Amino acid sequence: NEFVKVEFSKGALRTKTVEDILTPLKDCFMLPSTAVLDFNTMSEIMQSGYTRVPVYEEERSNIIEILYVKDLALVDPEDRTPMTTITKFYNHPLHFVFNDTKLDAMLEEFKKGNSHLAIVQKVNNEGEGDPFYEVLGLVTLEDVIEEIIKSEILDE
Ligand code: ADP
Repeated sequence: NEFVKVEFSKGALRTKTVEDILTPLKDCFMLPSTAVLDFNTMSEIMQSGYTRVPVYEEERSNIIEILYVKDLALVDPEDRTPMTTITKFYNHPLHFVFNDTKLDAMLEEFKKGNSHLAIVQKVNNEGEGDPFYEVLGLVTLEDVIEEIIKSEILDE
């Protein structure tokens, strides 16, 4: 019954959070803001196969910008262009969401915005010190859609 199926998968979207489906920070392909867009770096980006590459400063947990692979179309590796020249020029917005964001809310966010990738952070208040934002990883529209398809199949 189609109706029941859709209701079921909406249930999964309502209960699961972005934390359940994200790509963990350690598995994210990212580059430091100090990177130079020479032949090696550009090959590495192409070989990663990803269309968006978060750019961090000093530590991987400190994501400050995002490079789209299509931004490289006019970059000549011979020029050894600094990463920041390109990221500052395109200046794509970076979206952050909290770890407990439900998938239905995330889907709405993705539908509204033009970026289909978000950085997932949580408030870490476990240690002795002050609470701080901890980056857990990234989530894309593709991850949410995969979850919808998975639950549709399970419901059959
Ligand atoms: P792409 O268009 O780059 O293939 P998708 O949005 O289709 O990215 O996502 C495919 C999968 O890859 C998702 O699980 C997503 O979390 C993951 N992903 C996207 N960008 C990166 C990245 N830079 N490093 C690691 N995983 C990524």
